[in-house]
Amino acid sequence: MTTVKEAIEAMIRERNVETGRVSGLSRQIIAQMNTLQTGILVNFENLPGINSSGAAHLNLYLQTGAKEALRAALRSGIAQQPSLKMTINSAFRTVAQQHILYRVYQRDPKLIPLAAKPGNSNHEDGLAIDVNNYNVWKPYLLANGWQWLGGNDPVHFFNTNGRDDVSTLGVKAFQSLWNRYNPTERVTVDGNFGDQTAAKMDRCPIGGFAVVNVFRLGDNGAVVTRIQQHLSNVGFPVAVNGLFDRQTKDAVIKFQLKQGLAADGDVGPMTLKLLGIKL
Ligand SMILES: [Zn+2]
Repeated sequence: MTTVKEAIEAMIRERNVETGRVSGLSRQIIAQMNTLQTGILVNFENLPGINSSGAAHLNLYLQTGAKEALRAALRSGIAQQPSLKMTINSAFRTVAQQHILYRVYQRDPKLIPLAAKPGNSNHEDGLAIDVNNYNVWKPYLLANGWQWLGGNDPVHFFNTNGRDDVSTLGVKAFQSLWNRYNPTERVTVDGNFGDQTAAKMDRCPIGGFAVVNVFRLGDNGAVVTRIQQHLSNVGFPVAVNGLFDRQTKDAVIKFQLKQGLAADGDVGPMTLKLLGIKL
């Protein structure tokens, strides 16, 4: 398992900064942001005119208002030149990606000459895109609510049609994700990317936290059906209906007591194993 810190060391050694290496962790952070604030980031990959390279570092997400402004710009460009495509170099950047850029910038400014502290970039707000072929698209973007700061960073366009605190939400998403998988080493979920949070980020697996399947009261589906069948087979009969109901939970508790497990009625990896269920 490679940690974020190890990946950063390798990037500095190899002189190649590739934030796509944390794409697994990034996907979990984006999903968590959309859990904390429903629908805050929307995918724009399928907008007509978007040319996606599919590169691992690319998260083609914006806030809804910015996505609609992008749709309008693409539409007006295509109306003039039907074959025109927009090539995106960078769009939404997760706090994990910004952490990499900032760490490298601190350690080796020759490699990354400038990077914002995590929680402060408008790429982290879902309000910015870097457009590879910016010259052709600039007039259409400017006519549709996008802003351009000039030649120092010519690929960069940003939009103000949305909330400007989404980068803070991204930090909270990371902090709450960390706490879920590291309940004995909790950090304060305050949206502030301080030294403590940065140190936790360094220790994260680049592929994201391993998902632990736990089935509990209120769940339903095919795995619950199998749990019920296996419980019945080993002497704890329950209705096999695919619903993790009270009766199922009571049977799980009895099974766990018999096996000497913590009898909480939740079916985690150990209970699954002792029931003989492989997922
Ligand atoms: Zn940019």
